[in-house]
Amino acid sequence: MSTSHSTSPHHRMAARSRVQLESAVRALEAAIGPASYAPLERYTDTTDSVQAVHARHTAEALRQVLIEKQLVVAHALEQIAAGSYGSCEDCSRPIEADRLRVLPEATRCVDCQRRHAS
Ligand SMILES: [Zn+2]
Repeated sequence: MSTSHSTSPHHRMAARSRVQLESAVRALEAAIGPASYAPLERYTDTTDSVQAVHARHTAEALRQVLIEKQLVVAHALEQIAAGSYGSCEDCSRPIEADRLRVLPEATRCVDCQRRHAS
């Protein structure tokens, strides 16, 4: 057994997740970008205009999804910084390592997340 706290399973998991989450933050920032759309006045053709409005709505909906995802990732990074990462923020039980491996941004156990989402 190692005497260094930095090699404990929990710290290894947090360090591993931090790397993943930080790269996720960068990818999300790049994907979200500044909100910039072509002004609708540019479209004189009705079909083009309708398509432009539709494309804008789709882009805006996707943007919202990405922004929400970014908040979740940023929240997980805060938990890592605070040293509380890996424990469910609702019931304080440890979050399964397998769950964190596939979902490093998870800050709740499966049960609490299910309750939270419904
Ligand atoms: Zn929980």
